Amino acid sequence: MIENANNAINKVVIVGGGTAGWMTAAALSEVLSNTGCEITLIESEQIGTVGVGEATLPHLRFFNQRLGIDEPEFMRAVNATYKLGIEFANWGQKGDSYIHPFGDFGKPQNNIAFHHYWVKSHLHGNKTPIGDFSLPVVASQQAKFDFPAQDLNSLLSTFSFAYHIDAGLYAKYLREYSEQRGVTRKEGKVIGVNQDAETGFITSVEIDDGTQIEGQLFIDCSGFRGLLIEQALETGYEDWQHWLPCDRAVAIPCAANPNQASIPYTRATADEAGWRWRIPLQHRVGNGHVYCSDFMSDEQAERTLRTNLEGEPERDANFLRFTTGRRKKMWNKNCVAIGLSAGFLEPLESTGIHLIQLAIMKLIEFFPDQSIDPAFSDEFNRVMQMEIERIKDFLILHYNATERDDTEFWNYVRTMSLPDELQRKMELFERTGHVVKYQEGLFLEPSWIAVYLGQRKIPRAYDPRLDALSIDQLDAQLEKLKQSIVRAVNGMPSHSQAIKQIGDP
Ligand code: FAD
Repeated sequence: MIENANNAINKVVIVGGGTAGWMTAAALSEVLSNTGCEITLIESEQIGTVGVGEATLPHLRFFNQRLGIDEPEFMRAVNATYKLGIEFANWGQKGDSYIHPFGDFGKPQNNIAFHHYWVKSHLHGNKTPIGDFSLPVVASQQAKFDFPAQDLNSLLSTFSFAYHIDAGLYAKYLREYSEQRGVTRKEGKVIGVNQDAETGFITSVEIDDGTQIEGQLFIDCSGFRGLLIEQALETGYEDWQHWLPCDRAVAIPCAANPNQASIPYTRATADEAGWRWRIPLQHRVGNGHVYCSDFMSDEQAERTLRTNLEGEPERDANFLRFTTGRRKKMWNKNCVAIGLSAGFLEPLESTGIHLIQLAIMKLIEFFPDQSIDPAFSDEFNRVMQMEIERIKDFLILHYNATERDDTEFWNYVRTMSLPDELQRKMELFERTGHVVKYQEGLFLEPSWIAVYLGQRKIPRAYDPRLDALSIDQLDAQLEKLKQSIVRAVNGMPSHSQAIKQIGDP
């Protein structure tokens, strides 16, 4: 029996016009363009958006490509710079620094991951940092940028890149894109949500001018407040603050220093009770301080941030409060939460926009009909839960893998009990040098290696197949690789030159 009985969804309502709302509207307008489905987005200028979120992951390039967006045009529109990774300063110990790159360390040989070679050499006394064997790390350190090569034998193919963007301008850009493809924007404040008495499905939302907007599928992009998913549907929230205790942030963008070379990476500097971000855009620098209110006051957080600004502040301090965790179901009944309404992880690894993109892609893959078969929502929720939980564990690693004992905050995170899966992963690495691998999940082996080794978690052992390799031979191979990376990076243009190539807005 065919179950698709002409029951297609023909009215989608998106509540919220931040990054999440407009990314969703743009993607749905593209994929639903020939179906006759109406898409309405409601946003309130009076409420505004969260106004942060500037560092991205390489996946955003594929999102844009799927929408047919031209890269240079996009970069000009959002004042973007290129991003090869994130520098973490003061995490393992004060004074430490390493880069988590978008790319590999060395190349596997004989099916043995490169880091095992490095660990053997390190345990025999070679103190060359693992970053010297990563092209994107060395390129970042020298403020260089080029596009990855297509030839997979080339060292220049061993990395990827992302962008630093003005998220407000990105939302504006996607708004134009969406409106050109038929999305209706409605300005107003949602003041009521109507539900079917029997099923609890949302049937319409009411705006402050009295209009009722009906739909069959509702996307909650209303930000932290979770207007539909929580305030109306009472879905519930799983709180992760005991593992990720930071609960506040203060952001102050400042002018870019024209005399300073433009760097192709985000900086995350650990502080007394959290960390500070620095995100270089073309026209300004995004700065913020994520902190834990149990250990630091708002005044102290703002003062520390201001002391470390490298240019004139462009705006007043923007204070934000959050509870790290996830919505128990990101898709509940006929409502899908995307963005901050679905959950929150601090932006330590720039995963916010990525989780939005992933939710949109999964929603498109499992786009339901009006009956909203729970088979769709169950699978969507399973995938999204797994993704956010694995990212959560990776973030916890940054705090727990530390030797810092200089403040109460660091003593807490260094000694806290860990989620079972993370505990198991860390023990395996410490004893064998192996990273637990999954088919799915955002952060793969090189990312875990960057953080473990960058934060002084050196395993006690390496792959035993390397016992046969003499240490002199190994060190000679490593030196050769290091020199070829230096040569490859020397031939790359500077990041500032690469930005000039994009042209003026
Ligand atoms: P919002 O921007 O809050 O938008 C909510 C929308 O809903 C607004 O348009 C608002 O007007 C509307 N709305 C709310 N209530 C109503 C109502 N009653 N009626 C009508 N409209 C309503 N992510 C990254 O990828 N990289 C980063 O570097 C990064 N840094 C971050 C730093 C901080 C401190 C924080 C808090 C987040 C960061 N994020 C980052 C996450 C990123 O900011 C968000 O994922 C992204 O901005 C999406 O937000 P949103 O659209 O869900 O919510």
